Order: sequence, then structure tokens, then C-alpha cells
Amino acid sequence: MKTQLGTEDRPLRVAIIGAGPSGFYTAQALLEQTQYQVSVDMFDHLPTPYGLVRYGVAPDHQKIKAVTKLYDRIAEDPRFRFFGNVTFGETLTHDEVLEFYDMVVYAVGAQRDRRLNIPGEDLKRSIPATDFVAWYNAHPDYSHLSFDLAIDKVAVIGVGNVAMDVARILALSPDELAKTDIADYALEALRQSQVRDIYIIARRGPAQVKFTNPELRELAELEVTDVIIQPEQLELDPLSKAAIADNREAQTNLEIMRHYAQLGPTGKPKRIHFLFLHSPVAILGDEQGRVTRLKLEKNILKPTETGYLAAHGTGEFTWLDVDMVVRAIGYRSKPLPGVPFHERWGVIANQDGRVMDPTTGRIVPREYVVGWAKRGATGVIGTNKPDAAATVRLMLEDVPKISPAARERAAPDAVLHFLEQKRIQYVSWQDWKLIDAAEREAGQREGRPRVKFPTVQAMFAALRQAIAAMTADILIIGAGPAGLFAAFYAGYHKLTAKILEALPTVGGQLAAFYPQETIRDLPGFIKIEAAEFVQRLHKQVTQFGEDIEILLNRQAESFSVEDGVIVVKDHRGEAHRARRLIVASGAGALHPIKLDIPSVRRLEGRGVYYMLPDRSRLHGKKVLIVGGEETAVRWALNLQDWAEQVTLIHRQDQLQAAPSQIVALQTGRVDIRLNCILKDVKGNRRVESATIQDINTEETIDLDVDVVLVALGFRKDDRFLRTLGVPIKQDRIIVDGAMRTRHPGVYAIGDIARIQDGHPTESIVTGLGQAATAITDIVKAGSDS
Ligand code: NAP
Repeated sequence: MKTQLGTEDRPLRVAIIGAGPSGFYTAQALLEQTQYQVSVDMFDHLPTPYGLVRYGVAPDHQKIKAVTKLYDRIAEDPRFRFFGNVTFGETLTHDEVLEFYDMVVYAVGAQRDRRLNIPGEDLKRSIPATDFVAWYNAHPDYSHLSFDLAIDKVAVIGVGNVAMDVARILALSPDELAKTDIADYALEALRQSQVRDIYIIARRGPAQVKFTNPELRELAELEVTDVIIQPEQLELDPLSKAAIADNREAQTNLEIMRHYAQLGPTGKPKRIHFLFLHSPVAILGDEQGRVTRLKLEKNILKPTETGYLAAHGTGEFTWLDVDMVVRAIGYRSKPLPGVPFHERWGVIANQDGRVMDPTTGRIVPREYVVGWAKRGATGVIGTNKPDAAATVRLMLEDVPKISPAARERAAPDAVLHFLEQKRIQYVSWQDWKLIDAAEREAGQREGRPRVKFPTVQAMFAALRQAIAAMTADILIIGAGPAGLFAAFYAGYHKLTAKILEALPTVGGQLAAFYPQETIRDLPGFIKIEAAEFVQRLHKQVTQFGEDIEILLNRQAESFSVEDGVIVVKDHRGEAHRARRLIVASGAGALHPIKLDIPSVRRLEGRGVYYMLPDRSRLHGKKVLIVGGEETAVRWALNLQDWAEQVTLIHRQDQLQAAPSQIVALQTGRVDIRLNCILKDVKGNRRVESATIQDINTEETIDLDVDVVLVALGFRKDDRFLRTLGVPIKQDRIIVDGAMRTRHPGVYAIGDIARIQDGHPTESIVTGLGQAATAITDIVKAGSDS
């Protein structure tokens, strides 16, 4: 049978190219929708995420940069992975992306500058704002540039927010700049700056400016710069007046400009001048090819057919002495290899976000675009959220119509192996967090938000250093009782340890499936509830603070040894390094088998659960349990006196559990309905009712329920074990008496281990003893070496 795309078994795999705001909002919309199961991989040419938030937003606008906290939350989703330092079209080609993913979204922004197309535009010190902005923001592709600021006058062409950013950076004092995360070299160059006069030149009038109110208002706060506007420059022609009658933003801009005009110069050493209704027509230079003058033509405004007020030259010219010209007249996207491009508009050719062949007008299946690459360089960061959501809606509409990637290629580890085989040094989210921490730490020492690494090499050097410092003594796979106790015992012996757990909780099967079971075979306890036992073990581990790290929702994928250090990569492509490895993965990484019913998917975590939630959440509730094997039966028995009502449905005509338990169930309060399946759940924000069906009569019944617990068993995933290259017999790793596998430094304990010639015991207490044995061996080996 063909598996349906977008299901638990075959999630929709989406690649997002570009890690800027539009990329993150796309990821968010994909992860928040509930129609399909998805997994999202984000690629960026740079090792760092956040795109223009990191490399475009001005360094003195840290509040705007705080939006990255939201992006971090998106990135923490277990279905999301980040691959930095992977260049689309080079390290990963267009065809390769479409081989590994069902859909690709281009979120590449707009990196190229627009040109004025006037004589002298390529003189020295005539520069695009794109270069200047990326330079002062320490963008690795621009950090090699240098700008001579031992000059007096600068013209900034354009009156958008980028022009305001450039003017402001030139107008801030070194002390003001020193508090920001501006590139160190830019701070130094700006310290040496002799710039006194900055001219912001608009081809149209003050009613047509593109910058926003806060950007204009904050100029008043500049310590060393006055804002100069001649009052007559603010007189509006009747058409402009009419055009902004209902435009609050434009009206406020005018009010602020009038205030500046009234204030006049206050004697500060630098000045920002606004000059309206003037177009640059030529840039003139000296014999060394450096900018010296700007030729401007005076304009008047005339309406076009659509009512747009366009600038028209009057034939009247003036000249302005300037040493540098920065054009801030908008951005264009860069064409991507293999992706249709609309040359005139400077965007990826598309129809509402679906990539389109501009010559035939045909939609290119499986390819989409968002953000500036879709609509051009307009709007603020937040504009990208609804923009991305709109493209995602179309993607979801298209899911049933596309021919997806081949199943083996779409497996999440296929792209990991591909990148590794090609020896591409990609940066995972965890790696980025290490780079981030190193930057922040350096910033803290200087009282700045961060000190940015200006080159890719510097980022990798910092990363290597952080990783070396982070190599744990022991890496433990699995946070069941044996894994937790091994971590405790490691901490007790002053070793550092890290646990990777595939499930979202600690405690392994015990916590996930049988939290209310009573355990009667532990030393020191006549009886103890499983959940409490797990809680105690966990608490015992947490006493060692940062020395023991527990990472949940992390499935170990591959094992290797690099320079004598054990490296385990998880399903997100993140690497975990340690000197020793203890495999304590019990029955293996577990994934509950899920129901493929859209309403059930939508309400997962909001009334639908695959693992038993905390009992307090079920008190007095009406609970429906789906399943008829041991777990379902145990849950029903556990809850019958706790919940208001418990119904258990099972599609077979008899239950499969220990006879004593079945008898207990049959004589208890649980409403048992055999030959019944779940058809649907209803509810908006939470489960309100469930529709069940008798499979013989096909009769359906609506049950009033608050909680649906699904216990259909779990899939075992032992791919990781196979990468260890150690002998495995009947799904168990063979170990010696010290719990050592054949691979030096690799141990196995608990249910997953089988001592050569011994019997598997599957008891908690044996697992705990084996944890102590393995740790003792590690401690001993350490003191011997
Ligand atoms: P923009 O807002 O489109 O402004 C471009 C400016 O260049 C306009 O004033 C435009 O005038 C002028 N212009 C275009 N062609 C020209 C020509 N040939 N000669 C003279 N002037 C010309 O673009 P941007 O400043 O590059 O900003 C891009 C986007 O990023 C905008 O949406 C902006 O709001 C956003 N941004 C936001 C922030 C923030 O929120 N703080 C910071 C930076 C950027 P016309 O109106 O006459 O075309």
C-alpha cells in the first residue's frame, strides 16, 4: 500500500533555503499547522541563522533583534533542523534538494543593491548601502571591505529605513556605537571618522518618504548630531497634501520633520541634512577616481495614471560637494541556480508564492518562495509572517497533488549522510548556539550585547574550541532507570555526563507507559509507584547541576570516533562528544504508534495523548482509552478509580493482557467495548467528544469524553545500534562482565545489554547494578591510564 504523504509514517519533508525572518516564519507556519505531519530542514549559506536580523538590522537596534528569541523557540521544535554553511546551488544543488525533500521554499531575501544608472556610479567611495550595512554588521562575505571615513561629507540617496540606518550609524558617536554589536573593525573605522555632514537626498517630497516614524524620531536622541531641514522644504503641493490626508504614518513623519525644522541647528558637531525633490544625475570624481561632487536635478511631482506621484526633472541643476555617495534605493534578489528569476522585478518568478516559469507562465511544482525574494524588498520584519503563512497555505493545498521525493531519499538521515559523504562541514543548531554563546561571552566582557565573529574561519575556530571544552566524560543513550542511574553514578564519581533520550520525558518505558504501576522489587522499598521512583532518580541526578546534562526528544542516529573522541549524532544532525559511551536504550528508541486521523493529530497534546500524562490532569475526567493490549489494560485499571469515567475500546474481540488483569478489568468500573474503533474526535481547543464505531455493525456512537489515551504500542528503532558495529544477538548488545562491548570505550547496560553467556533479566535492579559496574570500570580505566 502506498503510504500517504504527511502522515506519521511518511511526514512531509520541507527544505527552507535561507535562515532569515521569512524562513523562520515559514517554518513556524509549517510546524503549527495540524493538517499534515511535517519535518523542516533549514539551510543557510552562512554558518549563522537570522539573515537580515543579524546582518541587516542596525547594531544600535537591539530591541528589533530580540525577535530572534522567537526564532530560537521555533528552532527548538524537534521536527526542525538547521544546516548552516551549506550553500544552495553549490554544496547542495537545486536537483539534490528536490531529491531529498518533497517541497522547497526559497527564503533567500534580497542581497543585491539597485543601481542609479548614472555616470560616476562606480567611482571610488560611491557605494551601495548593501555593502556598507553588511560591513558594519560583520557579515563574513563583506568583512574584508574597508571604507575610508577620513572624509567630511556623505550623501545618502533614498529616504527609506536603510538610508536612515546608514545616516544614523555615520552620525552616532563612538561611545554610542561602542555599546552595540557593531563589527569591531567598523567601530575602529568609525572612531577615526571625520564625517561632519550627512545629506539624505530624496527624489520626491517629504510626504513620500518611506522611512517609519520611530526611525525619524530617534534622530533627536543623537548625542553629537543635529537634524537640519529647511522649513520651505516641507511645504506640500496640493496633490501630496491630498495623498496623505488619511495616512497617519506620513502625517506623523511630517510633524516630526516640522519639529526638526523649527528647532534648527543646536551647535552639535555633526549634522544630518534632508534635501527633498532632488535626483542625483551624475557623480563627479577627482583624478584619483574618488567622489568629489554630486550633480542633482530639481524635481517636481506629477501624477501617473494610477495616481502615483512621480518625480520629474525640471532641468534645473545644483551641485553638492561630497566625498562619498551611499545609494540606499532598495534591494533586489540574486538569481539562484536552477530557479526561475524575474529580472525586471528582481525577485524569484512566482505567482503568490508558487514558483513560476516566467516564459511559459507555468507553475513549477514543489517549489515556493517567501519574503523579499517573493514580493521584493518591502515591509518590516513582521510583514514576513503573514506573507510566509500565505505561501504555506498554498503548499498545504498542493500536498495531495505533488509527486513526492522517493521514500529512501526523504528519510531524515539521507541528507545527513549525503552532507557527511561530501565532507560538508555544516553547522547544526547546537553548533550555532555554541558560536552564539562565545560571541555573547566576549560581548559581556566589554559591556556589549556580543562581539561578532567577522569571518567563517573565526566562527569555526570558536566552535572547535567550545566543542573541545564540551566533550563529556560519558555519553549515555537513554534516560530510563539504568541510564539515569549511570548518570548519577558518573556525577557521584565527579565525572561529567550527557544523556540523550528519544522520548519527551525521563524514565523510559516506565514513565511513558506505566507511571502508576507499583514496583515491589527495589532494595529499600516495600513498594513504590513507578512515577515516584523515576522522579527520585531524576532528582538524584540533578544534584550535580551542569555536570550532568539531559537532552530530551533526541534520537541517537549515528556513531563514530574522531580523533579518539566518541561522536554520536542525533536526528537533528547535532553532534555529541564524549570519551565513553554507555548505551542504556532499553527496548530501543521508542516511538508510540499514532493514529492517522486529522482531528486526532490536531488535538494531540490537547486532550489526545500517547503517553500517560500526569495523573492530576485526569482526575474527574471522562477518559477514552484506545487499545486492548497490556498497556491499555494497565492504564484502564489505574484510572478507573481516579477518572470520572473510563471507556476502553479495542478493535479485536478480546483483550491481550495477563489473565489476572483482564479479570480485574472485567470486574471493575471500566466500560469495555470490543470490536470498536475510534473514528473521530471533536473539539476546538480541547477534546470534547469522540466518535467510535462498531466494526461489525458499522454503527457509530458519540461519547462525551475529555481525554483520549491511545495505546497502540510503539515502533522500535534500532538503527543507531547497528551503527555501533558491535555484536548484537536477539536485539541485545553482547557485553562482558564489566558491561564492555567489543568497541573500546563503549558500554551497554540494562535491557539492551546481554552479558556473554548470561541470561537477559529485564529487571530494574539489574540495570542499576550494571550502571554502577560500567561506571566503576570507566573510573578504574581512567585512574589506570
Ligand atoms: P525603500 O523603503 O523602498 O526605500 C528606497 C528609497 O529609495 C525610496 O525613498 C525611493 O524613493 C528611493 N529611490 C529608489 N530609486 C531611486 C532612484 N533611482 N533615485 C533616487 N531615489 C530612489 O527601501 P530600503 O530603505 O532599502 O528598505 C527596504 C525595506 O527594508 C523597507 O521595507 C524598509 O522599511 C525595511 N527596513 C526596515 C528597517 C526598520 O524597520 N528599522 C530598517 C531597514 C530596512 P521613491 O519612493 O521615490 O521610489
